[in-house]
Amino acid sequence: MEKRVFLKKGDKNRPRWGHPWIYRSQIDRAQGDPAPGDLVEVHATHGIAGVGYFNLSSEISVRLLSSKSVSINEAFFRSRIERALALRRRFMKSAGAFRVIASEADGLPGLIADLYGEVLVVQFLTMGMEKLRPLVLKAFEETLPSLRGIYEKSDSSSRAIEGLAPRVEWIRKDCGDEVQIDEEGIRYAVRLEGGHKTGFYLDQRENRILIGNLGVKGSCLDAFCYEGGFGLHLVRGGAKEVIGIDSQEEAVARAEENRRLNGFSENVVRYRTANVFDALREFEKEKKRFDLIVLDPPSFVKKKAALEGALAGYKEIALRSMKILNDPGLLAVFSCSYHVTDDLLMQVCMSAARDVRKSLKVIRFLKQSPDHPIDPFIPESYYLKGFLLEITSL
Ligand code: SAH
Repeated sequence: MEKRVFLKKGDKNRPRWGHPWIYRSQIDRAQGDPAPGDLVEVHATHGIAGVGYFNLSSEISVRLLSSKSVSINEAFFRSRIERALALRRRFMKSAGAFRVIASEADGLPGLIADLYGEVLVVQFLTMGMEKLRPLVLKAFEETLPSLRGIYEKSDSSSRAIEGLAPRVEWIRKDCGDEVQIDEEGIRYAVRLEGGHKTGFYLDQRENRILIGNLGVKGSCLDAFCYEGGFGLHLVRGGAKEVIGIDSQEEAVARAEENRRLNGFSENVVRYRTANVFDALREFEKEKKRFDLIVLDPPSFVKKKAALEGALAGYKEIALRSMKILNDPGLLAVFSCSYHVTDDLLMQVCMSAARDVRKSLKVIRFLKQSPDHPIDPFIPESYYLKGFLLEITSL
């Protein structure tokens, strides 16, 4: 390959084993005048470190696609996609919707692809992946021949850092604007245009099923419910009352529609557009009590500098939830921030429990579903963690 990047000498400039990122500070020089997004061969002192794409406008200036000097062609993408599909087919056999490609964790940095039935939603996050877009799309068409639609939702803020404008459009459309998916007996109508992420929080699939299968018969609170995620599974499990809360009116309206789609009564599931922080305070004032509370907030911390404030937020919702739980009660608490580790989240829960004089036990350690693979060599790939806790008085 004539375009090459040479890394500086010294141990700290070696590419990290198993991690595809090479920082600007590690680079000594480039040869062949690579343009932003061009493929380059990376040379370290010990020899070739692999092939990746180059973009000096990002601090992560090379993302490796392979640690060998292979050709990046359609066959390369096909084999990566097939490998990723094989993992999903093995571990998520019954899933009607799943993430096919989870960027770095599937060896394709800068690419996200989610399959909803026969519709694929793709996100190109980087200049390098953008340049490879035609090859990627062709490889998807070949590996998933029954596709009826491909929707591109490249609207991530990371594109601006890469020097790219957003692109949101149907690439191919032989389907409706919505897809109905089935998640262990619960149906959701997923709108491809306009929803969060690629339309749905696929990463919480297994946790939604697990929480529903607990078979809690009493009152449940689905805080940060989006389009009805956990709450509908709680009804499936036999809950006599579910309250779902989200601050976004549109999400709540969609949750209502999903309730109807599943034929559940509005006497059992009620949705409310509200700020969870306020709602928890009101429940406390009204002396409302729950047997189970799910706390699935958005990422309060996108940058490490915001960690402290975020932890205070997590603590507040955990503490207020513990106050309005019956004894014993169940609390499923999640964080989808990479910077909030299991340890930090547990410390937050312990600190909340101490303040309200409660005791807690971990019933389950929870994490993202297997279609969002965790690669321990790439710590950033582990972002969603949670605990199912039993809360009792001391
Ligand atoms: N549990 C959901 C996913 C939740 S994502 C599922 O399984 O599908 C987080 C949700 O929190 C988003 O829908 C967002 O609109 C909502 N949200 C963000 N801040 C909020 C707040 N302060 N109060 C209530 N909802 C909030």
